[in-house]
Amino acid sequence: MTFFEFQKRFPNEGAALNFIVATKYANGYYCPKCGCFHKGIYRSNKRTKVLHCNNCKSEFSVLAGTIFEGTHLDLRMWLYAMNLVIVAKKGISACQLQRELGMKSYKGAWRMLQLIRQAMAKEEYNEVFEAVVEIDETYVGGKPRKSNVHTERETNEKHNKRGRGTSKTPVIGVKERNTGKVHAVVANYNDEGKQLTGKQLFNVLKKVCKDGVTVMTDQYSGYNILDKENEKNFIRVKVDHSVTYSLGDGKHTNGIESFWAIVKRGVYGIYHHVSVEHMQKYMDEFCFRLNHRECDDAFESLVNLAIAA
Ligand SMILES: [Zn+2]
Repeated sequence: MTFFEFQKRFPNEGAALNFIVATKYANGYYCPKCGCFHKGIYRSNKRTKVLHCNNCKSEFSVLAGTIFEGTHLDLRMWLYAMNLVIVAKKGISACQLQRELGMKSYKGAWRMLQLIRQAMAKEEYNEVFEAVVEIDETYVGGKPRKSNVHTERETNEKHNKRGRGTSKTPVIGVKERNTGKVHAVVANYNDEGKQLTGKQLFNVLKKVCKDGVTVMTDQYSGYNILDKENEKNFIRVKVDHSVTYSLGDGKHTNGIESFWAIVKRGVYGIYHHVSVEHMQKYMDEFCFRLNHRECDDAFESLVNLAIAA
């Protein structure tokens, strides 16, 4: 939503609090102490951030179990920050957020963004991708060397013996053709110290895809696991990038590659540096934004994730 829409919807702190309370407790609540159920919302007029239990007379914060719990900042700031994260195509840096909100501390802005990403990460796709999906991997982090992701991979493989000494982190991405929904996972090392193994790639597909989907891949050997009979009956279609870039036969991985382009513009252009430690959170942010880009309910979806215990 635009600044004016936001201003109209949340003209003051009370409006922001009421919105959060109404959303979180729409279906009543259980007392955390005695466990009894309350159908309505019991708040005093003065201490509006406190909920009551009529049974055991205890009180607790309306923000308990939300990403806002214990915050000293206005809830309006939080909601505005969440809106900014959604509307900023490539993401928003902590520096920029600090300026937008007029915050004193950079650390506070950074922490706020981390918590918003944490909420975004709660959105999961479990075995819902169907028909045709595309899978591809890319390397993120450090300085971009070449624009072509495949050349990059080869460079990493040759010079860094993959994973050893490379400053970049491999990320696996899956995109469903029909809906354009994406799922991206940082490829961690397995017990043998390997990344991007066939099993790892298969497991990423297994989590998000229904049985029997057609999987578009490039020629990377890790995908050869899909050529064999597999428990999910996935069918692999191999894309030869040296021959068929635009034959119009639907054999391509352009969809997931365009997602990598957005990710890289964001990581290098906005965030400048993303450490391995935090990489997954950033990927969750890029996925959430893309998966909600055409929805009117992106803001509501994010609020719901933020308040879910
Ligand atoms: Zn109680």
